[in-house]
Amino acid sequence: MGVACSGSKRNEQLLLHVDVYIWKEKEKKYHLYDYSSHESHYQQLQLIQDTKLCKYGENILAVQPNQTIEGAQELFVIKEKVLRPITEIWSIIRNDQVNGVPVTNRVQLIPGQTIRLGRVKIILWEACFNQAMATEESEKEKDEDANGLDDSENSNAENSCRICMSKVGTLSNPLINPCQCSGSVKYIHIKCLQQWIHNKFKIRELNNIVLYFWSNLICEICKEQYKLEYKFQNRKYHLIDIPRPKEAYFIFWISHIDKNKEKGLYVINLNGRSNIKIGRVQENDIKLQDISVSRNHALITFNREDESIYLEDLGSKFGTLLQIDQLKLDCKSIIQVANSVFIFDYLRKNQKHYELPSFYKVVEKETQQQPQDCVEDDVLVNVDNNKYLSGDNEAS
Ligand SMILES: [Zn+2]
Ligand SMILES: [Zn+2]
Repeated sequence: MGVACSGSKRNEQLLLHVDVYIWKEKEKKYHLYDYSSHESHYQQLQLIQDTKLCKYGENILAVQPNQTIEGAQELFVIKEKVLRPITEIWSIIRNDQVNGVPVTNRVQLIPGQTIRLGRVKIILWEACFNQAMATEESEKEKDEDANGLDDSENSNAENSCRICMSKVGTLSNPLINPCQCSGSVKYIHIKCLQQWIHNKFKIRELNNIVLYFWSNLICEICKEQYKLEYKFQNRKYHLIDIPRPKEAYFIFWISHIDKNKEKGLYVINLNGRSNIKIGRVQENDIKLQDISVSRNHALITFNREDESIYLEDLGSKFGTLLQIDQLKLDCKSIIQVANSVFIFDYLRKNQKHYELPSFYKVVEKETQQQPQDCVEDDVLVNVDNNKYLSGDNEAS
């Protein structure tokens, strides 16, 4: 049948109401929403049960999770009130409101999470509150290497390092293939690669902060971008091997949406510090010279006792964004996806009347003949979703 219905059972269903604000992008897609401009296209959706949201042109579509639509960009799936991203999803942190809805200006930050400030991306790459423990761990790794693992078993007459020409690889220094190169230049020792990378760094040091920066870490032969981490026999190897402070420290990885801009690593010694300021002006600890970053944009605070870390927005123009890998929609939630802001709110039907977007056709006919259990199969309320997607205008 595939026709949505509006049986009486519907009225009891818990609905997810979604407000979407979509703004026009400039020719370069930086996904920056200027909250003061109000120049956005507005759309409302009402959803029940599991659904997948997609972007089709300038419109947001709700379809069943297993449904695919040609030409549409899949954004996320909502299943049992949990949102799971398909593309990059950002939680908005702002010292103000988003389209009239208050948002939090402070969230907990977990190492590894990506933060966005304007066009700049920051990852808290390493957070160490207890250097003694970190040293112990690296000693343990060295012991493992010494206990017979550190052998030359992966040497092969075919493979030789393209820098030092040696054919011997060990577990602490394996021969890896980090790019698209093949033939006699296919392999390189991780340590030879780290050394080569290190020579490309520019280094600046100030106030217990060491900044390493570079324009591009690409293979000079095949032009492939090197990854930050490589795996060999289930072990992880960092591409960048830099000295760590003896005390507590944070390492931040900074990159720009524009891939040709400089990238960098900030190694910040936490001794004598209670927070880390991020912004465009001089007095910040992490100074980002990009006009999309506010003068004083965000603040990172931490508690050495319980090792918790917090991210705070300082009233920035475009907000501070934090990438999320899932989101519980049990209360009002606000996210940004590409050039759209989504505001989710659970409510009961009839609590408030909402207009459906014009491209959804309301199905009025045969409602009294609909079997009650058809409710379970439909994703959208009052919307003949299949008809719209197949482009078939005839009612089935
Ligand atoms: Zn080598
Ligand atoms: Zn290469």
